Amino acid sequence: MTGKMGPYNASVEAFREQEYSMLKDNIYLDHAGTTLYSRSLVDRFAADMMANLLGNPHAASASSQAAGHMIEDIRLRTLQFFHADPAEFDLVFVLNATAGAKLVTEAFRALPGGFTYAYHQACHTSLVGVREEARNAVCLPSEEVEAWAAGDIPEMEHAGVTHTLFAYPAQSNMDGRRFPFSWAHRLRNQTGSVNDKEEDVTHNKKHIWTLLDAAAYAATSPLNLSNAATAPDFTLVSFYKIFGFPDLGGLIVRRPAEPLFDSRRYFGGGTVDMVVCAPQEQWHATKGGYGSDSNRNGYALHDRLEDGTLPVHNIAALGAALDTHAALFGSMSCISAHASFLADRLHHGLVALHHGNGSPVCHIYSPDRNTEDAGGPIVAFNLQNARGAWISLAEFDKLATLKKIHLRTGGVCNPGGVTAALGLAPWELRRNFSRGLRCGSDEGGDDIVAGKPTGIIRVSLGAMSTIGDVDRFLTFLNEFYRDDSLEITATPFTKDTKADNLVIASINVYPIKSCGAFEVPHDMRWAVRPEGLAWDREWCLVHRGTRRALSQKQYPKMVLLRPVLDFEQGVLRVSYAGPRAEWAGREVTVPLSNNPAMFKVPSTTTTVSASSKSRSSRVCGEEIAAQVYTSDKINDFFSQALGIPCLLARFPPGGQGTSMRHSKAHLQKYQRQTVKSRGLPSPPDSDSERTSCHGHSNMSRISEPDDTSNEDNSRDSAATRQRRRILLSNESPILAIHMASLRELNRAIKQENGQSSPDVDAAVFRANIVLDSPAGEQGPSPYAEDAWSKLRIGQQSFKLLGACRRCHMVCVNQETAIKSDEPFVTLTKTRRFDGKVFFGTHMGHDPSNVDPTDGGADVLDTPEKQFPTIMVGESVAAE
Ligand SMILES: *Cc1c(COP(=O)(O)O)cnc(C)c1O
Repeated sequence: MTGKMGPYNASVEAFREQEYSMLKDNIYLDHAGTTLYSRSLVDRFAADMMANLLGNPHAASASSQAAGHMIEDIRLRTLQFFHADPAEFDLVFVLNATAGAKLVTEAFRALPGGFTYAYHQACHTSLVGVREEARNAVCLPSEEVEAWAAGDIPEMEHAGVTHTLFAYPAQSNMDGRRFPFSWAHRLRNQTGSVNDKEEDVTHNKKHIWTLLDAAAYAATSPLNLSNAATAPDFTLVSFYKIFGFPDLGGLIVRRPAEPLFDSRRYFGGGTVDMVVCAPQEQWHATKGGYGSDSNRNGYALHDRLEDGTLPVHNIAALGAALDTHAALFGSMSCISAHASFLADRLHHGLVALHHGNGSPVCHIYSPDRNTEDAGGPIVAFNLQNARGAWISLAEFDKLATLKKIHLRTGGVCNPGGVTAALGLAPWELRRNFSRGLRCGSDEGGDDIVAGKPTGIIRVSLGAMSTIGDVDRFLTFLNEFYRDDSLEITATPFTKDTKADNLVIASINVYPIKSCGAFEVPHDMRWAVRPEGLAWDREWCLVHRGTRRALSQKQYPKMVLLRPVLDFEQGVLRVSYAGPRAEWAGREVTVPLSNNPAMFKVPSTTTTVSASSKSRSSRVCGEEIAAQVYTSDKINDFFSQALGIPCLLARFPPGGQGTSMRHSKAHLQKYQRQTVKSRGLPSPPDSDSERTSCHGHSNMSRISEPDDTSNEDNSRDSAATRQRRRILLSNESPILAIHMASLRELNRAIKQENGQSSPDVDAAVFRANIVLDSPAGEQGPSPYAEDAWSKLRIGQQSFKLLGACRRCHMVCVNQETAIKSDEPFVTLTKTRRFDGKVFFGTHMGHDPSNVDPTDGGADVLDTPEKQFPTIMVGESVAAE
């Protein structure tokens, strides 16, 4: 036991580094997702495993018996942990709380007449799904449950249905709100069948059964089932949420509810006593499913429900968890007090954050901490800027990730709770869905729709949280989200929109998406194609299993793959600049010519061309047609270098039409649709700006109004017309950066972090074209590019298509693949507009406008028009 004073368990600070060494300098605030396992637990588990010979419990050998006994001991201890008398309750081990809910559903749907399902609006998704198996279902807010408990039966169809199952969470996993334990027996009393005799169940008497989801509640609070008379019929827990490990759940069944499982039809190994399985006859006797005695031939409910081999080792780990948890933290009441103390501190800290103009930084959805209804240690909120606009969750995530803060954003698997908190109507949810918003996806569109957030930020605390965690998080919000100076109110555009004292300082292409750059030799003219610079993102690496394109965002090591375009030999050479010595000098070569024999074709056909049968790959969830190389030599090189099973893929020749290039996948889609109908249709989510999952596909004009409120696709508002024009013109995004802007950024970084902080290299922005003033001359001012709309490079014209939205990928050092905070942190403070961070500009070649001196350029072919090129050192004029 820990000696401690007051509710806060300060001893956690003393043992945390030792017990939770995986935390390092992370701020872990997602205990409602899963809490963390201790070193003591893992050590104890390892020791137990090595000391005991455990067999499959469904057999007679000594090792099987040992496993069986161990399981029954731990089952008993677990019931005791919840103060549940084994004479009144049984505990069924399941995979997780969800599996427990499914087991109950399996029983109810097999009841003659089926069942009616009523569920509280704050239910976790896993309990909402039960409704699909019910004869009819209703979703109830607290007031209606209260009224029901008081005798006012909610409107639901009961005809012919005897059994009603009511499900609710003891604590919401979204905002920590708690709901009365008393509901269970008050509803049970409604039906009049209070005597809980088994006969009542089997006779056709109306019954209301209660399923209590305690998965969130039990994580930091004592779940007390000592009063069997008032306890819920079914209680769900997930042990990993309490102990961090094992991945195991429990369904606790109050004995009078056991007969409900008689109707369950499925049986499996372990839950059956005899099976006749022959052509002449199919017969079986489930455990406890025959005979008339009420003790079911001596079988317990769990014997009848635990199909298949039990998770023996997980159960062993649960035993270790019960021991070590108590040793570290004392009782669940101690944990509850500790976590509540921290939740108070967090909640008050959030409330206290105000912008300079007095408006609050946080809009909190969780109940007030000072009232009796203060919930569990979970705080749900959203951030607002000084003008009251919502901060995008996607943008918040980027910064939180960079700062090693672990929390949950979005719908957090609580559709009803989030809907109620955010005041979203069903039609708005459907609209958001059609705009690409998805549960659990970070690739959705803009998450602020029509001026409303579509999700929340959830911070949740646990037994091993500390004051330091809370305070560091509050400091983070204070640093990045408080104060008007963070949001730039006046755009720093320069008025001088014309500039001609610029040159191309360097040209880079990225032959393999997300891998290293190839710097174009300074004396080489480089072709500009309709789809971008020649050889830019011609190849990509796809995961062998999912066929999704790999991105540097997930695998920073990709940048250590260094491609060289060797035109003399006609090959792409790739080496790996990793730290391991054995890679020195190793390289792989890939022919530049597009030989169909290199690609995967179906073995049954030999005549089809590779491109027509190529397996499609995915970029950002979009299907793209890329041809996968068949050579083991090539694929193994990349797989071994990265330590990820992957394949090299190439885009079919042509670069246009159906063969989309990665970085333009979305834009190409819009284009095809528009071209097809010739009108100006607005594709379903033409205005969604997906979070970039590659270098620089996201474009957005800083000055452009955010038209997210325009959900009416049939109407062609000025804003969508504006956006569409930009998208259509954007056939070939080329990314350019301006060195004056980078110098200004580096100055700001030094101002923030001290003069000794290193300069950020231009390479992190993965630009194609780097613009600078001629040596020794005064060029345009920093960020002048924000105001430009056109560039003329030599004889070629380019349209600027909008600023490039950035994510924390810019923090990957392109030499070493090591991630740091900068430049994203300083960009957030100096280059954030409407919650989004921008650096650099997208541009596309404008072939209609080649030679300014030739009035007939639109109709007459010129060499420059037939083969447009650019070169390092060429002068650049902007306007
Ligand atoms: C986590 C959670 C669940 C789901 O638990 P699983 O272990 O994923 O099955 C259900 N309800 C609540 C309240 C939860 O917090």
